[in-house]
Amino acid sequence: MIINSARFVVSNPTVGKCPADTRHEYAFIGRSNVGKSSLINMLAGNRSLAKTSSTPGKTMLINHFLVNDSWYIVDLPGYGFAQRGKSQREQLEKMIRGYILNRAQMTNLFVLIDSRHKPMKIDLEFFNWLGENGVPFAIVFTKLDKLGTQAGKRNVEEYCRILLETWEELPPVFLTSSETGRGRDEILDYIEQLNSL
Ligand code: GDP
Repeated sequence: MIINSARFVVSNPTVGKCPADTRHEYAFIGRSNVGKSSLINMLAGNRSLAKTSSTPGKTMLINHFLVNDSWYIVDLPGYGFAQRGKSQREQLEKMIRGYILNRAQMTNLFVLIDSRHKPMKIDLEFFNWLGENGVPFAIVFTKLDKLGTQAGKRNVEEYCRILLETWEELPPVFLTSSETGRGRDEILDYIEQLNSL
């Protein structure tokens, strides 16, 4: 898919306030610093669309970006900020859960995982929760350029092997780098495919 335009539309604290139209939307989520803003910018072909920041968890709202005037990228807040207070964390989780479970327009959720990390309990629990609730999702491994080709492949394979200990099959998996643009065509093609269903 060719991206002709991508623009920020609105930020909201709850799913009830999200845009009322029925365009398909694709949400992106991951632990803070996973490379979510960079990936959104890479997909949109716009280096400053989503804010990239070294301050973990800066985005605390549901952000809608309209692409090609026909579908939305949705930037969800990161999850699992150890440094945040319990009540703020619970409030964020409620907002994320509310969006994921109630947003009929959400056609797919892309869950980002840093390819350098081993599976973490919080990610595995989140995947299981998505599975239990029948949420359509895909896994996006980020920052593949930071590892050598073989090391990257080994890490991703090990991650998938652990997932397959509890799952019968894997969801779609994408290997990406916002530095090199790896995975961009694959994700955009996948979105195009889902848009046409
Ligand atoms: P977010 O907090 O998940 O939105 O993460 P950011 O997109 O702000 O990225 C966090 C840090 O990782 C920044 O310093 C980025 O420059 C860096 N980063 C993100 N994606 C990549 C990537 O694909 N390759 C490399 N080498 N660095 C990346």
